[in-house]
Amino acid sequence: MMYETVTDIDQLLSRLQAYQPEADLGMVRKAYEFSARAHEGQTRRSGEPYVKHPVAVAGVLTSLKTDVTAIVAGLLHDTLEDTVATADELQKEFGKEVVHLVDGVTKIGKITFRSSEERQAENFRKMVLSMADDIRVVIIKLADRLHNMRTLEHLKESKRYEIAKETLEIYAPLANRIGIGWVKNELEDLCLKHLNPDVYETLRVRVAKRDEDRQQYIQEVRELVEKALAENGLVGAVNGRPKHLYGIYQKMKKQSISFEEVYDLTALRIITDTKMNCYALLGVIHSLWRPLPGRFKDYIAIPKSNLYQSLHTTVVGPKGEHVEFQIRTEEMHRVAEYGIAAHWKYKEQGRVQDKDSKAFGWLRQFIEWQQDLPDNRQFMDSVKLELFHDVVYVFTPKGIVKELPKGATPVDFAYAIHTEVGDHCVGAKVNGKIVPLKHEVSSGDTIEILTSPNQTPHKDWLKFVRTSRAKTKIKHWIKSEEQKRSLEIGRRLLESELRRHGLAPSQVSKSDALLDLAKQEGYATIDELAAAVGFGHVATAQIVGRLLAPMGENRTASHETEPVPKVASGRGTEASVQVRGGRDLLMQLSRCCNPVPGDRILGYITRGRGLTIHSVDCPNLGALDYDRNRLVEVEWDTATPSQHAVNISVIAEDRTGVLANVSSAIAGSDANISRAEITTREDRKAELHFVVEISDTNHLYRVLKAIERVDGVITARRLRSWRGKI
Ligand code: MN
Repeated sequence: MMYETVTDIDQLLSRLQAYQPEADLGMVRKAYEFSARAHEGQTRRSGEPYVKHPVAVAGVLTSLKTDVTAIVAGLLHDTLEDTVATADELQKEFGKEVVHLVDGVTKIGKITFRSSEERQAENFRKMVLSMADDIRVVIIKLADRLHNMRTLEHLKESKRYEIAKETLEIYAPLANRIGIGWVKNELEDLCLKHLNPDVYETLRVRVAKRDEDRQQYIQEVRELVEKALAENGLVGAVNGRPKHLYGIYQKMKKQSISFEEVYDLTALRIITDTKMNCYALLGVIHSLWRPLPGRFKDYIAIPKSNLYQSLHTTVVGPKGEHVEFQIRTEEMHRVAEYGIAAHWKYKEQGRVQDKDSKAFGWLRQFIEWQQDLPDNRQFMDSVKLELFHDVVYVFTPKGIVKELPKGATPVDFAYAIHTEVGDHCVGAKVNGKIVPLKHEVSSGDTIEILTSPNQTPHKDWLKFVRTSRAKTKIKHWIKSEEQKRSLEIGRRLLESELRRHGLAPSQVSKSDALLDLAKQEGYATIDELAAAVGFGHVATAQIVGRLLAPMGENRTASHETEPVPKVASGRGTEASVQVRGGRDLLMQLSRCCNPVPGDRILGYITRGRGLTIHSVDCPNLGALDYDRNRLVEVEWDTATPSQHAVNISVIAEDRTGVLANVSSAIAGSDANISRAEITTREDRKAELHFVVEISDTNHLYRVLKAIERVDGVITARRLRSWRGKI
């Protein structure tokens, strides 16, 4: 049988030559000799020389009719991991491509499937695919696993169980996914044999017995079909189907039915020449025997995602027994058996049909690629698996797999775990090492997120996160934060405007007048109105003005002698919003003019970011297209001392010690220097730049005076920003 284990190099070479007469047998023999030498002295658990394993793996590859490169890599697949052979040596002897394949197989072998949870299995499978950028890596890995499963009985029971389980969860479905039906079936049967030996043995014996009993009947049916085909001038080879014990077992388990019920069914396969004839054949079968309703499946018109095509039907055959037929062309049969590997054959015969390739689902891209390539060799040289390369698979510290888009960062991962984790993440460890939040994670990474209750989402995160979940969560947080901020700033602005007009804010907000006004403006509550003020949509002067108008009338009525100011102009000392010099979430000292306490300042209501505080002579206030309505009166809250960094520029004679003297003058005025720089000019003058921490303009003035008293200093002045911008 063609799927039998290959045991020696000559057998391997003749199998290769059978389908590829021009193959470079010398290269294969060389790889065998290299492998035998590298594994010399090593034995398998069975006691056989180790090299028998790579030979058997290469043998499986000949069953899949792969190219020489894959077979060479199959012979060498364990040399990098288990022997002293190096990648350099391999490359020198066999070329880059072989090294790449061996390396890929080794890499997949290192993935440990830590969790066996069902829902994770698919992710692991995808991970394997994502790590292999060449489909041959996956095929060699499957061949490796198949031979290991064939020889599993030599291992300890616990190890056997572990490997069989992993095979059933990862590798058999992987074989199914790339459409190699016979590898999938054999892997599954071997898994059943080791995971559930009693069931396996019972099924094996019963199937054999049943088949024996049935031989006569099957022969009868075959003859009837063949006769009918001949009468209709149709070609078709009628065959029994190889038994797939795991498939029977699964059906029994899933549908809770007995062996007899599952197996009370003769299964035949008819292989014909053309797709048209598949349907013609189906007609012949249906005219011979009555089809069972609901059992006809047209996988030719609608192929399975792994490319499988066939017509399935079950009929009530002679003696009233059910007979199941699979009808397909030779080409379809090859796809069912070899899956992705069948397409090498396809290309050779130039028979890839566009219409078919459209139905190939996840393989479409792969096929399209193939069609773009000018010749066969080039195709073989560059079989890439691009399917899962836009995603990465990473682990939580507990070994749970998360799927993320390529380029994802720890922040994406944190949000994938929980919003709270995302909102408070301050850092991350990838494989135990601290990385920045914008670090790009890769498949196989284990990621641990570090959080702090003080951390909040940052706008900058939006620049590097990849998942829409993270983006949405960050934006949501920023928006609600902006809303809170606008509400708070709006309240403060309203209060100060009211105070400026001699009104007590607490009383006004209790009265209905403000609420009425809010409603007239289209806001349901006073808070909504305040938020609108804080966003700069409504000016406080406008609100308070309208509030005062009716009130003013009342007051005028009772106190006619007292004139009431309408909207005050100019700066009202007590009425302006207090700016605390230190950190105030609602207010930011603008970076363009860098105001410090003592400077005359103005507030500008930003959209959602609170107030930015500018110095009144900031050129940006005039230059930019500022909305005058958004400007508000503010003043420093001098009760809370604070430290501010200012830039100071000093021009001095270029002589030794001048920097030290200026520095000590600054320190002598109780100011800290956080940055200093000196440049020498061509006119023998030195320019000294400092960033100095001061508390207010008076302090700054003292510092500047102290600097100017230093011998050799010509001028000392404040700069709005470092290196004299503005
Ligand atoms: Mn191996």
